[in-house]
Amino acid sequence: MGVMIELIKGLRVTGKTMWRTITGQEMVTTRYPDERRHKPQRFHGRHVLNRYPDGMEKCIGCELCAGVCPAQCIYVRGMDNDVENPTSPGERFGFVYEINMLRCIFCGLCVEACPTEAITMTQLFEMSTTNRQDAIYTKETLLMERDGSVPHMFPDDPLVDLDELDSADGWVRATAPSGVAAYEGMQMWQGTPGPGDWSPEPTQEEIDRAESEDDSG
Ligand code: SF4
Ligand code: SF4
Repeated sequence: MGVMIELIKGLRVTGKTMWRTITGQEMVTTRYPDERRHKPQRFHGRHVLNRYPDGMEKCIGCELCAGVCPAQCIYVRGMDNDVENPTSPGERFGFVYEINMLRCIFCGLCVEACPTEAITMTQLFEMSTTNRQDAIYTKETLLMERDGSVPHMFPDDPLVDLDELDSADGWVRATAPSGVAAYEGMQMWQGTPGPGDWSPEPTQEEIDRAESEDDSG
């Protein structure tokens, strides 16, 4: 008798799953790629190397991201900036920058380690390739365009549609730059990459000031 009850319970689960499948409930892949699920802001997708709104590269070639990467999949080589025509503010810039996406575990530690917010992660996740070499993203693939859009992976890449990148938030921060717990998850210092205008975000000092004015008011 007990066995029969367990069998009926099991068949109920099977029946429910079959019904959901037939009616398309909770199926997330059936309409892909025509329809894509909304990604949470902190989604860990493919990386992007950011620029300042004036077009300067944020990477200063410090190699901290490469040092912290547990999968050892980042290779950076810095170079001194040309004094007359610098690539980044400061002394050096990332001359060579590569990420081996086959090794990456999308932990986001490189984002956390970067002192200039040069490397961030987007909501883009379509990264299939037909050979291993294409899975090594070079600076050319990673560096955002001057209009703030994320570059295509390959020429004629059909999967990365620039129109969709409005929702591709390049910002992933798990901790505040200053380490103050109250600022956990807050975006600071500069706008989110993506096409269009990037409004500068308030600095931590400005946020502090606004909060103290609110408290006193
Ligand atoms: S997300 Fe993690 S594994 Fe991937 S490159 Fe960054 S630190 Fe390395
Ligand atoms: S991405 Fe950031 S951590 Fe990595 S080399 Fe450039 S500035 Fe340094």
